[in-house]
Amino acid sequence: MGTRRPLVAGNWKMNGSRAESATLLDGVKKGVSSAFRAEVAVCPPFILLPLAAEKLAGSGIAWGGQNLSVHSAGAYTGEVSGPMLKDYGCTYVIVGHSERRAFYSESDTLVAEKFAAAQNAGLIPILCVGETLQEREAGQTEAVVARQLEAVLDKHGIGGFKNAVIAYEPVWAIGTGKTATPQQAQDVHRFIRGRLAARDKAVAENTRILYGGSMKGGNAGELLAQPDIDGGLIGGASLQADEFIAIGRAAG
Ligand code: PEP
Repeated sequence: MGTRRPLVAGNWKMNGSRAESATLLDGVKKGVSSAFRAEVAVCPPFILLPLAAEKLAGSGIAWGGQNLSVHSAGAYTGEVSGPMLKDYGCTYVIVGHSERRAFYSESDTLVAEKFAAAQNAGLIPILCVGETLQEREAGQTEAVVARQLEAVLDKHGIGGFKNAVIAYEPVWAIGTGKTATPQQAQDVHRFIRGRLAARDKAVAENTRILYGGSMKGGNAGELLAQPDIDGGLIGGASLQADEFIAIGRAAG
């Protein structure tokens, strides 16, 4: 991971009562040591962000949203905007998660608009990219990841990545217990960095590229040891304080 400071971010998805979330936040706060080299963040459901803000203020642990509207305010029933997330102290927001792409038909174009909406609100987007099993088996991994990445690069230029994080999340590894091998992940991470480097070497060198897909305490070390893997976006394991903390510790 070179000189880039690792980031371990938890994507809670649509999980957690208020009481369960309070316990989880307390557990994470207790377990995350200031000696960690890694930065730690949690992304709870919108409705739990005030609780995260209350529990994590001053802890050094960041919090963020899992999605945002392309609009900043107005008649968009059911949506939450970037400025609202910022108002609740969010640092990050996940953009283009594969579940949003698959279940809510988010296109590359919409994802690129959300990426900009995040930055316009002063948030750091965590842009998710990744291929399905069918695409991998058809030898299309690089083409798919390049298409998802270039949709953002073409719209916002390489400058957009001066303050952004990328998460490579092979769809077949998300929530399946099937992790990419360290080499499979490293190959795609290197490919992504190469696409950034083709536009600007310094930005490529500084951009954190996280791996996501069934990462846990037991497999984090070997994944995070890869030169182009700069942390993790963690789903299932982020709902257990011990597992999540173990990943943070493995990140250095
Ligand atoms: C995710 O959805 O971002 C993810 C990585 O999930 P999991 O860790 O459960 O595979």
